Amino acid sequence: MTVITRFAPSPTGRLHVGNLRTALHNWMFAQAQAGRFLLRIDDTDGERSEEAFVDAIRADLAWLGLNPDGEERQSARFDRYEARFAELKAAGRVYPAYESAQELDLKRKVLLGRGLPPVYDRAALALTADQVAAYEAEARTPHWRFKLDHDAAIEWDDLIRGHQRFDPKTMSDPVVRRADGSWLYLLPSVIDDVDLAITHVVRGEDHVSNTASQLQMFAALGATPPSFAHEALLTGNEGKLSKRLGSLGCDHFREVGIEPQAIVALLARLGTSDPVEPFADPAPLIASLDFARFGRAPARFDEDELAGLNAKIVHQLGFEAVASRLPAGMTEAAWEAIRPNLSTIAEAADWWGVVEGPVASVPAEEDRDFLAKAAATAAGIDWSADPWAQLTAALKEITGRKGKPLFLPLRRALTARDHGPDMAALLPLIGPERAIERLTPR
Ligand code: GLU
Repeated sequence: MTVITRFAPSPTGRLHVGNLRTALHNWMFAQAQAGRFLLRIDDTDGERSEEAFVDAIRADLAWLGLNPDGEERQSARFDRYEARFAELKAAGRVYPAYESAQELDLKRKVLLGRGLPPVYDRAALALTADQVAAYEAEARTPHWRFKLDHDAAIEWDDLIRGHQRFDPKTMSDPVVRRADGSWLYLLPSVIDDVDLAITHVVRGEDHVSNTASQLQMFAALGATPPSFAHEALLTGNEGKLSKRLGSLGCDHFREVGIEPQAIVALLARLGTSDPVEPFADPAPLIASLDFARFGRAPARFDEDELAGLNAKIVHQLGFEAVASRLPAGMTEAAWEAIRPNLSTIAEAADWWGVVEGPVASVPAEEDRDFLAKAAATAAGIDWSADPWAQLTAALKEITGRKGKPLFLPLRRALTARDHGPDMAALLPLIGPERAIERLTPR
């Protein structure tokens, strides 16, 4: 059996971090099982779906390195839905219902008022031919409900949540088609999963009750259902589902200098019992993926954690991987010297500016003489062999300074900053001319 997973976003907005996580786990699982990962564009809602969002979804997945092995679109499959719907109709598994939204709302309120669960009463199934004719005469068109089989409990072994059991009598027959003929998500999704031979559905736990209905749809269509893994949702820092989380997507992360590898490393393991680690390569993450290690409690997404992980990943990136994003002229040696100091790749430009200059620092009065000596010493050392070690050793000899009073004035004069990359790596990049000029007190 070839494992086939799918990521099925609706192109009605940008992907947010929760979507990215679902996409990632589907992709990872397919990779781990040498299977296939499909992108399914859930665009049955023609009004809210936008082509620009379809493009953005593709671009976001590509940026993260989650390349689909195929793409399907629901809007291209309406004929297929029509055909399978006709079968369900013939088999009496879908039925027309004429209640208006207001009527349904009223029914719900009455039940809730009596302390009862707001389950649809199946009044539409009891309509007489005359009543139907009367509705039709009013030019009312029906919406369609899937008739749940009440005979047996719905059960499945969820790969994350374990054994699940639903009593169909406590569930409303789900509406699968609107009065205008448009499709709701539930049934087309099942038809697609059957036709595309999806073996595993990995999605958020907000879909658990949909799964209960959909399992009966698989059965009604004569298909074996896929396995399901419903992951606990993400929460923001405040500990609840936040608006902010829903608006955090790839554009934002890119803007603040987060690398795709950091997002992958964090989202791969967030909410699992495996530690979040700065893997720049997804292979070990894929190898260790195990739905049994996913927790049932909501996982907390923390942007600071992501930023920290990002820095650790930036520190691992080789020159080749980042060269096109570095300032012109910045060399491999410069990248390696500067890299350990970066939180983001963009900050490299900052430090490259420090190397190239000009840098302006006004020396403290008590350091002027020391710096004059430093400038003179710098003129006499061998710049091809660890100039920083030579410079500081010689100055220690000459001035008797050591520790901070020795190093800090030099760093300040050479970089105009108190902290930064290792001076031993930075000084050769600055080079003798600029160094002597910067050390010479003005
Ligand atoms: N379009 C659905 C959603 O975004 C897909 C859910 C599913 O994976 O089946 O929620």
